[in-house]
This record gives sequence, C-alpha cells and structure tokens, in this order.
Amino acid sequence: MTTWRENIRRVEPYVPGEQTKDTDVIKLNTNENPYGPSKRVKEFVDNPDMLRLYPELGASKLVNALAEYHGVKPTQVFVGVGSDDVLAMSFLTFFNSDKPILFPDITYSFYDVWAELFKIPYERPALDENFRLVKEDYYKENGGIVFPNPNAPTGIFEPLAQVEDIIKNNPASVVIVDEAYIDFGGETALPLIAQYDNLVVVRTFSKSRSMAGLRIGYAIGNEELIKALNDVKYSYNSYTMNRPSILLGIESIKDEEYFRSNIDKIVNTRKRFVEAIKPLGFTCLPSSANFVFATHNSIPAKEIFEAAKKAKIYVRYFDMPRINNYLRISIGTDEEMDTVVKFLKTYIK
Ligand code: PMP
Repeated sequence: MTTWRENIRRVEPYVPGEQTKDTDVIKLNTNENPYGPSKRVKEFVDNPDMLRLYPELGASKLVNALAEYHGVKPTQVFVGVGSDDVLAMSFLTFFNSDKPILFPDITYSFYDVWAELFKIPYERPALDENFRLVKEDYYKENGGIVFPNPNAPTGIFEPLAQVEDIIKNNPASVVIVDEAYIDFGGETALPLIAQYDNLVVVRTFSKSRSMAGLRIGYAIGNEELIKALNDVKYSYNSYTMNRPSILLGIESIKDEEYFRSNIDKIVNTRKRFVEAIKPLGFTCLPSSANFVFATHNSIPAKEIFEAAKKAKIYVRYFDMPRINNYLRISIGTDEEMDTVVKFLKTYIK
C-alpha cells in the first residue's frame, strides 16, 4: 500500500555555523564582518517610512543603484534575499537539464543541498592536492556549472583566465561564479559578462558590506538570463525584498570610501593573523577571503575547535573528508584576533 510518506520531499538541510545567544563570545564562525555598515546606513535607519510602507515590488531603486555601480543595465541585475536566495533561484532557473551539474568536491556546502532539493543530478570533480580547481574536469558534458571564487571554505582564488576558460568551454551551460568573497582579494569575472552570454556572477552584501543581517544578494548576467530568473522568482513569491534592505542597500553603495576602508582593514588583519599563527605550527591556505583555512602540524583541528569554543572563541570546523583537519577562522578586528592568538599560544605550548 502506498502512503503519503513516499511522496514527501526529503532533504538534509544545510547546516550553517552556530548562531549563539551568548554575547560574550568572539564570533569567527560565519564570516561576518566585525565593523558594521557605513554610517550612512546607520543614520538612514531612522527614516520614518522605513517600516510603515510596503516595499516596491521590483526593488528597482536598489537594482538601478547596483546597475550604475557596476556599469551594466538594470535589466542585467537580479536582487534576492541574500545570495543564498539568489543562488537557490539560479539553480531552479538554470539547471534544468538531465545532465549532471558540476561543482567542486570541496566548496560551499549549500550547493549539494539545493541540488538534492530540486532533484538536479550533480557531480563533484575533486580539487587537486593543493585545493585548486582542475579546469579540465569541467569540459565534459554537463547541465551547468557553479563554483565560488574565491572558493569556500578554502579561501583560494582562481585566476580569471582559468575562470574564463571554463566559461568559454561551456557555451551550452550556464556558469555561475559565486563571488561572495571577491572584494577581499582576486579579480571579478564581471567584465566577462559582456563577452559570454552563459555567465552569471552572484554577489552579497553580507561580507564586504557588513550587512549579513539585512539579507541582500544579487546576480548580474545577460538580460535573457536575468529575465528568466525574475520570472521564476515572481512565480514563487513576490514581496521578498523588504523595504529596509532596499533602502539601506542603496545607502551602502553610496559610501564607497567606507566600503574600501573596511575591506583594507580586514585584509591587513588577515595578513597579520596569518603571520602570528605561523610560528605556532599553523599553515594557512593562501586566502583571498575574509577568513583563513588553517591546519596545525600536530594538534587535530577538532580538538582546537572544541577547546576554542570552551574559551568562547567560535570558529568553524567541517567534519568532512579531506578538510577535517582544518579550521575556518573568520577575520574579526585586530583586537579579536589578538585574543585568538593569545588563546592559541596558551593552548598549544
Ligand atoms: N556563497 C558562499 C560561498 C558563502 O560562503 C555564503 C555564506 N554562507 C553565501 C554564498 C551566502 O551568503 P548570503 O546568503 O549571506 O549572501
């Protein structure tokens, strides 16, 4: 006898880093930015119409601001509730073939969850022994390609020539480059959009714009792809971009100076932190992101992770093949990172 149980969609959800209620921890486990958004954003919060009114359906003011900022047409910009929403909509819209989509074995752990949820077949070509993408692995028949650049959780950036080669060799597939961390290092694939109609670049306000709580993400691509994305989105839910996100997102874009100085601070602290933990026996993969992926030459990562948590320092540990001896440590303020170094010095000696 068949039962309704057989027809339930079963998925294993994505597990994000822990969001603790404790306020006295050093929270370096979800790649948030410690500095908060531009002053313009904070001042604008007082706008009396911010919460009272419905948002404009198409979030066109934010779309226009992003289009102008990136030098593309508004019809080439799609906005969503964080890049997770943008990526989920992109999977649903672009990955409809019977052929498997391709993404690396070590990458953002939401990709396989979306693939499972939407019943998209997928293959995961292995990164090489240095955690680098092997571009030739992406030249076989496929139903689409997605990878972050810089990659997560490794932080490794692949040169644009490598990215372009993958796009060029896959004219029959949509290639999504997830640039969540691009502002912290590396070169964006955005200029390639004018040349390749199969490229979609996804970005977020959560990291370099220090606005993870507002949930703003966006995609840029050719008009036909963006229209398809919007059609899918509006077939599913309409008022997804709330008014504060639209208005405060625009304020953030207007403050380029703050944006740049925030990134500079993170990049400097990253360098300082990597140097500080090296003498303690840590090796970090070369990071172009707002986190480092570090491994110790004698102490298992899991032990350090647990000890750090007891000391109220939250970092991320993935109990997965190949990376289960690494810790992903988000870059906080200099002060926070000094506390981490102090803890590690005492713990490791
Ligand atoms: N892509 C990558 C590679 C990420 O690490 C993250 C952060 N979890 C996201 C996308 C999603 O970020 P958000 O939804 O906050 O924009």
